[in-house]
Amino acid sequence: MRGRLPFWFKQKPANPKTMLTMEGLLDGLSLHTICESAHCPNVGDCFSRKTATFLILGDICTRRCTFCAVKKGHPLPVDEEEPQHLLEAAEKLNLSYIVITSVTRDDLFDGGASQFVKVINILRENRAGAIVEVLIPDFHGSAEALKAVVEARPQVINHNVETVPRLYPKVRPGADYSRSLELLFMAKNLNLEIITKSGLMLGLGETKEEIVEVMKDLREANCDLLTLGQYLQPSPKHHPVVRFVSPEEFSRYRDIGKEIGFIEIAAAPLVRSSFKAAELYAKVKGDAHSLDSPSVTRV
Ligand code: SF4
Repeated sequence: MRGRLPFWFKQKPANPKTMLTMEGLLDGLSLHTICESAHCPNVGDCFSRKTATFLILGDICTRRCTFCAVKKGHPLPVDEEEPQHLLEAAEKLNLSYIVITSVTRDDLFDGGASQFVKVINILRENRAGAIVEVLIPDFHGSAEALKAVVEARPQVINHNVETVPRLYPKVRPGADYSRSLELLFMAKNLNLEIITKSGLMLGLGETKEEIVEVMKDLREANCDLLTLGQYLQPSPKHHPVVRFVSPEEFSRYRDIGKEIGFIEIAAAPLVRSSFKAAELYAKVKGDAHSLDSPSVTRV
């Protein structure tokens, strides 16, 4: 797959020393990142900038999304030390914007919401001024689980719809498009100050019209921010890449999304849901950070 990628995926090589330092820090604290678990193409760039999206509740997921490289199976018990370890990592990396996501834990009574709450609380108590963004699973539609996370007051709640509803049975079995929209809608209704965010991968077989329809659905659910990026197949066993979307087409979706009413949209081949999350959030607050897909060098 790598050898056949369009030229716009060309990236600067990661600095091996920085990668080793980051991996050592995370291993030492028994922490996982979605950057490594999902084989994110931006891992070198993010680790070089000493940022990462922490993956809590283990690295084994109970769902079987066909696009996702995260391990699937029976998860291990929840690590009670995880919130403390995550705080230590945030302190060592001096993070002022902290992104936390998780595998889906359908085996837990609250879907893991209480662990999100513990992590948000420990960060709020010890990292004054830090912005916390949580990229949450759907908690199987549990309003109580969502309410607990909202009440912990992260600044941003992100939940990805990932793809268009027609492709859910093939791409996201176990998930439900309406349930995901409802979760975003509820999160905003529970606390209007929380910024809501979602994301889509393009190139899974969706049509252009379907992409725009999903964008409209998300706005109807009061979603503030959107990320659009190119799907890349993690291995031959995963869902195939049906097409590569050009940077120009991504720009057109950004324009459409702005017209529809999103506060801001990051749309480019290498955009992922938490890539440059601080810059996207800064746009909401009126700062003028660039949202260009960085490190992408044209050859
Ligand atoms: S629920 Fe999330 S972590 Fe689990 S397989 Fe699907 S995309 Fe991957």
